Amino acid sequence: MTWDVPARAALAADGLDLTALDRRSTPGWSGDKAAGRARTVNRGARMSELQELLYAHGRSGGERSVLLVLQGMDTAGKGGIVRHVLGMVDPQGVALRSFGVPTAEERTQHYLWRIRNALPRPGAIGVFDRSHYEDVLVVRVEDLVPRDVWEPRYDEINAFEAELVEAGTVVVKVMLAISPEEQAERLRERLERPDKYWKYNPGDIDARERWHDYTAAYQAVLDRTSTAHAPWYVVPADRKWYARLAVTELLTDALLGLGLSWPPADFDVATELARLDASRP
Ligand code: ADP
Repeated sequence: MTWDVPARAALAADGLDLTALDRRSTPGWSGDKAAGRARTVNRGARMSELQELLYAHGRSGGERSVLLVLQGMDTAGKGGIVRHVLGMVDPQGVALRSFGVPTAEERTQHYLWRIRNALPRPGAIGVFDRSHYEDVLVVRVEDLVPRDVWEPRYDEINAFEAELVEAGTVVVKVMLAISPEEQAERLRERLERPDKYWKYNPGDIDARERWHDYTAAYQAVLDRTSTAHAPWYVVPADRKWYARLAVTELLTDALLGLGLSWPPADFDVATELARLDASRP
C-alpha cells in the first residue's frame, strides 16, 4: 500500500480553506488503519536510516539539518507525533523544544530570540512543539499585543525562515487540524480518566470557545507564511494513525531530499585494517 500522490502534494496548504477541510479525511492515502500503521512502521525504519545518515553528515562537518514545526489546537496530537513518529529514530539525533507562555526572561527579548536559541545543530532533527507561530496565533487571538505589532510578524517570520533555509535547514511546517467534535471527545477523556487529568488544562476550554478566531488566525498563517522555501502542510488529525503516517512521510521525504551519502573515511582504511590485524591487546 502506498500514497496515491506524494504526501507533499496531498497535504500542501496552498489555496486551502480550513473551514472546508474534512478533519477525518486521509488525503493521499486510500488504505485503511491497519495498512496505514504498517506503512508507518515501514517508512519509520527508512526514516531512521536517513536520520543516521544526517547525524553522520553533521559529525563530519556537514551543515544540513531538519526542523519540524508542529502547530495545532489543544489535543490535536502534537505530543503523539513526538512520541510515535520521532520515537522511531535515535533520540541522540533529535532535539525537541516546547514553547509555552514566554518566561519573564523571554518577555524581555524579541519573540524570535528563544526560537533562535533552540534551532537544531547541524546533523540534527529539531522539533518545535508550538513555535514562533504562537506569536501570530494566541497573541493575535487574545490581543496580547496590538495589531500593529503582530501584523509585521508574518513577513518577519518569512525572512527568518528564508535565512534558516539558506543556512542549510529544511523547514517542515505541519498544522495538525482536528475538528471541534473530536477535540470535545479528547478533552472529555482527559476529564474522565484519572491517568489523563495531568494533560488537562482549564485554559483549553477558553481557547476552544474562540475556535473561529483561531481558525481565522491559522488561515492567515497558511495564507501568509506558506512559502516556496518553507511551505505549510495541513494534516487532518481526527484519525491519529493517519496524522502519524502523514508526518512520517513528510519527514522521510525531507530527509531523502537532502540527498546525503555516507561521509568518506578521513583515515586510510587499508592502513587501519593492517593496524587492527597487527594489534595485540
Ligand atoms: P501544551 O498546551 O502544548 O501541552 P503548555 O501547557 O506548556 O503546553 O501550554 C502552552 C501554552 O503556551 C499554550 O496555551 C500557548 O498558547 C501558550 N503560548 C505559547 N507561546 C506563546 C506566546 N508566544 N505568547 C503567549 N502564549 C504562548
